[in-house]
Amino acid sequence: MKNRTPEEGLTALTDDAERNRLLAEMAEQSTDMISRHTPEDWRFIYASPAVTHLLGYTVEEIVGISAYDLYHPDDVEDFRLRAPTVNYDRGLYTHTYRFRCKDGHYTWLESTSRTIRDPESNDIREILVVSRDATHRIMADKASRRLARVLESTQDLVIFANLDFTVSHLNEAARKALEVECVDYSSFPLSWLLTERGLATLMEDGFPAAKETGYWRGELTMQSLKASRIPVMLELLAHRSLHGDIEYFSLVAHDLTEKKAAEEQLKQYQGEIDHASRLVTMGELASSLAHELNQPLSAMVNYLRGIERRFADKPTLSWSDVELPITRSIRTALRAGEIIHRMMDFTRKQEPVITSLNLPDLIGEMIDFCENMAERHNVHVAFEPDPDLPAVRGDQVQLEQVVLNLIVNAIEASASASPGHKDSAIVRINVVPHESRQLRVEVEDQGRGISEVDMPRLFDRFFSTKETGLGMGLAISRSLVENLGGELWAENLVAGGARFSFTLNITD
Ligand code: ADP
Repeated sequence: MKNRTPEEGLTALTDDAERNRLLAEMAEQSTDMISRHTPEDWRFIYASPAVTHLLGYTVEEIVGISAYDLYHPDDVEDFRLRAPTVNYDRGLYTHTYRFRCKDGHYTWLESTSRTIRDPESNDIREILVVSRDATHRIMADKASRRLARVLESTQDLVIFANLDFTVSHLNEAARKALEVECVDYSSFPLSWLLTERGLATLMEDGFPAAKETGYWRGELTMQSLKASRIPVMLELLAHRSLHGDIEYFSLVAHDLTEKKAAEEQLKQYQGEIDHASRLVTMGELASSLAHELNQPLSAMVNYLRGIERRFADKPTLSWSDVELPITRSIRTALRAGEIIHRMMDFTRKQEPVITSLNLPDLIGEMIDFCENMAERHNVHVAFEPDPDLPAVRGDQVQLEQVVLNLIVNAIEASASASPGHKDSAIVRINVVPHESRQLRVEVEDQGRGISEVDMPRLFDRFFSTKETGLGMGLAISRSLVENLGGELWAENLVAGGARFSFTLNITD
């Protein structure tokens, strides 16, 4: 074919035969199905080869079949109702419907139909239809409608934000929780929904991370328009276009109010159990303490009786005659007071205060505390700490509780293993460096050790093999140590007896 000028091409296109030839060529090549139908019952007069790919029929098979026989039964009525519109009003329209393939399954087609009329009589000669597979689009539409329904009905707060950090959409849960029922979104900055710190977290960490990696997750506090605070776990997503530019952000916030309240309650409950357990430990120590207090009290009675006697013998006593017994009484009374103080400190319910603590001092005091108990059970507590150990992080009362539990258990275990034994049993305490930034405390005894059956249950709440045991000491000690970032475990010693060890972080 010789090359044509544009004008020549145009003239050629007006030529009917040439146009038909081009149309036929386009139809044969197109991935869309082009078909011609009779006006009455939409019987196929012609279908382009794409019919095989789209519906599974060959061109020869489909010609002669009425399209009405292949519509989905639910769509047929729709077609009958629309037919007049197609034919007479606009003459051209597009719609989406299900069509039965040769293998019996239905596929979604999107078709544009056009009526071709006889130029002389203006009667409808045939209908020309261009159809394409709409399954992907319909499925995607359905999926996004389904997703939209989920987003709308989820209890999580869903917020969409523009690149300038204004809010473009809120789901119902977000509208309700953040009290934004009647606000015009277009002029509404996201910052209105966050506390000052929440906003800072999002601006400094959240958005930069989402821009970089597409995703960020973190805890922060949101704020309703009427200033109610809502602690949330927030997931931030950056949504990109096909070209890779960020188009908008979505924020999905899970309300943590109830979880936080439950945690708070658990903490309080834990605090109460700790306290109760301290009272029990103190109860276990009570008879030894009674001994400990008895001694200074009787000493004071003796000093005062001595003064009384001297007065009876010599009413004109001078200060030098009574100075010694009086100063001794005072010192002894102060010592008794100290014992009572320590007891009160230990049993008092108080909020933990994390400080830097000298472990050997703390352990030494607890050994003093149990001295009478140890003596009564014929147990010697040996402790020779390295004076240069670094300080550790912890709450004093909590750590005293842990150490005391382990010492009392060790004394009881040693005593029950050798009742009435002449030589005293030894409970040995060591403090040694553990890994790079920790100290390890070991409490070793010469008891019977822990049986294989008891070992896995040792740290369970209420597990006790003692007649009057509460079985809370080890469970609480472990949770206290773990809260401080350490670990507490038990093992049997080869030579007999048990070793309880725990670790604590060295103060930075
Ligand atoms: P309790 O002392 O009230 O029984 P604990 O939680 O302190 O509660 O201890 C739980 C159990 O662990 C004890 O009853 C005992 O069977 C075992 N146990 C604790 N310390 C030792 C130890 N040093 N040697 C052997 N068994 C021990």
